Amino acid sequence: MKKKRALSLILALVLLATGVAACSQPAESVGSEQPPAQTQTPAEPGGEPTDISGTFEGTGYGMQGSIQVEIQVAAGLITDVSFLQISETPYVAGVAIERIPQQIVEYQSLGLDAVTGATLTSYGIMNAVADAAQRAGLDVDALRANKVVLQPGSAETWDTDVLVMGGGGAGFTAAITAAQEGAKVILIEKSSVLGGNSMVAGSAFNAVDLVAQSNMILTVAQKNTLDGYLAMQESDPALQFDTFPEWKEVLVALKEDINAFYSKNKGKKAGEDMPGFDSIAMHMWHIYIGGLRQLETGEWIASDVNLARTLTEQALQSFEWMGEVGMEPVYGEAAANGLSTVLGAMWPRTHDFLRGDARIVQLNSVALQNGVQVYTETAGTELILDNGRVTGAKAKKADGTEITINAAKGVVLATGGYCANPAMVKQYDSYWGADLSDRTLTTNMGTNKGDGIVMAEKIGAALTGMEIAQMMPSSSPTKGTMTDGIWGDASEQIWIDGEGNRFVNEYAERDVLAKSSLALENGVFYILYAGLGAAPDEMLKGASVDDVSYFGDRYGDLVDKGHVWYGDTLAELVEKSKTPAAGATPRFTEEALRKTIELYNGYYANQKDDDFGKEVIAGPIDIEYIENTPGAGYFITPRKSSLHHTMGGIKIDTQTRVLNTAGEPIEGLYAAGEVTGGIHAGNRLGGNAIADIFTFGRIAGRNAAN
Ligand code: ADP
Repeated sequence: MKKKRALSLILALVLLATGVAACSQPAESVGSEQPPAQTQTPAEPGGEPTDISGTFEGTGYGMQGSIQVEIQVAAGLITDVSFLQISETPYVAGVAIERIPQQIVEYQSLGLDAVTGATLTSYGIMNAVADAAQRAGLDVDALRANKVVLQPGSAETWDTDVLVMGGGGAGFTAAITAAQEGAKVILIEKSSVLGGNSMVAGSAFNAVDLVAQSNMILTVAQKNTLDGYLAMQESDPALQFDTFPEWKEVLVALKEDINAFYSKNKGKKAGEDMPGFDSIAMHMWHIYIGGLRQLETGEWIASDVNLARTLTEQALQSFEWMGEVGMEPVYGEAAANGLSTVLGAMWPRTHDFLRGDARIVQLNSVALQNGVQVYTETAGTELILDNGRVTGAKAKKADGTEITINAAKGVVLATGGYCANPAMVKQYDSYWGADLSDRTLTTNMGTNKGDGIVMAEKIGAALTGMEIAQMMPSSSPTKGTMTDGIWGDASEQIWIDGEGNRFVNEYAERDVLAKSSLALENGVFYILYAGLGAAPDEMLKGASVDDVSYFGDRYGDLVDKGHVWYGDTLAELVEKSKTPAAGATPRFTEEALRKTIELYNGYYANQKDDDFGKEVIAGPIDIEYIENTPGAGYFITPRKSSLHHTMGGIKIDTQTRVLNTAGEPIEGLYAAGEVTGGIHAGNRLGGNAIADIFTFGRIAGRNAAN
């Protein structure tokens, strides 16, 4: 009983702390408070009244493993449902955790609708209660058959200046900016929780930051990369300047920047006293070559140079803006932590500041402070077009209530991408071929199905870059999520196949990583992890089961849950890997792992990767130290690529105005974030998404309000 109370208390505290699971009801309400949904179903028991009474336990399975409940039964009715154990993520499943038990008791039903955005949790809870009900001797079939039918309320009309559709990073940034410009703003979110993919994203934010670079040392391998750029010939057909001539001047500018940097640092040596380097032209260049891809049709796609310039020039300001509107930590603190290279970022310009869940809580609270009215479980369904101008949208609440929202100044589409709709990805795909199916797993929240793209296309908006979606290589093989594993700086990671051999340049772009790993047995590869380097020239001294992952998991718990393997020594690690983790069954030998590490250490020492040409090589592993130090060991995480980010979407200009198929702006309609296309072309660099949504979200909010 005590355990149960403690758990309820923890859940309540988490929900309070995150503050994002519940609808934010504005003071001057134009809408309604969110459900519990209205129903027609009378509160009758699903089965015949009986004399069954008592306390019964049951188990079901949600997104994050088993859910154990305890139910109280009195005279054949379920009078209470409480959790004995649940590991569902509160900021994703918070509303389901709260609402489903209440509704089971209220309606004596196990035929409830799943809570939007938390389907697996909703069914997991109902299944756990069904298990307990079975043990109690209740009629489970009758409880399941007692469907709760949602009853829509009467149609409503809301009036505002700016309507923002989508409560992720882009939507909140647009809403806050529009409100600060003096507009009345309504934000609607389809899911039961706010945040979208911005909520489950990591903390990587790329921005050219010369102050932070000046505190870093340019490595020898990085200098080789810069020399490589200087040696590039504009006439090289591989650069595709015939098709994309506008990008030639960016390469010219990059060379000028590098030459100016070398002159300024004359006499200094890479790896010793030469500071770090970055420039707008280089960030743009990385977007270009990182995203330049050939489709199955033979056509090439590349980033829109103007959108790339807007992003790279304003990314640092967007970072600073967060501090200006009151979010923590402010830029200075983050910059002091230095820059790293998140997976697929191509250069150390990644600022580490706030994880998605913390970020969304702060954005929501800043939005409310600025008077934004925020509604969850309210999905935009259609844009209203009047004489060629978008004047609002139709929306629907979870209970089916229809709403007409009139937006006097404009509508901002920020409904995110469509990776949770693999059939839509497949429909447009011209890149992955057989590596992709209608059932490919995703890192995304379940509500990101491309609604905004469909709505915009219906009123004549142009779409761009729909042919390639990004796969995240480092995902759980069984769930597709980025969780359940151990990450690290791309420069320090060692990726191996099921035999223990390296198979790729771990510093490469994400599609390169995904393609090469999907070619392995079952598409599964493994990340060998031995801690993080304290300094670029330091050997890794092993990791501990008490360390905590990027997504907040204690490593020891990841081992206990069967997601990763740990060994104090290589021999122990190999022994552990004989028990499947995340369904994976490799055939590592101690010799193979030792040989791989020794080879990698040699490439690090020479700053040259003879096998795969890794440009920035860090993280040599100190085998001798680890083998002789109890508590310092190695982890191996099985991973498999899953759908992560759709680079394609609605076509916009640099003012985020939505363009029609004739290339003209559609009046009153703006779009920002993953719902748009054209910025990242065939492959988005790791760490550019958050910079993108904050930069274009601000522009959209400002323009919509004015
Ligand atoms: P971005 O990174 O571009 O901000 P996110 O994925 O973080 O994108 O956020 C997009 C949000 O839009 C998600 O929370 C998603 O649930 C929401 N959304 C998707 N479709 C609709 C819709 N039809 N109406 C309202 N919100 C929607």
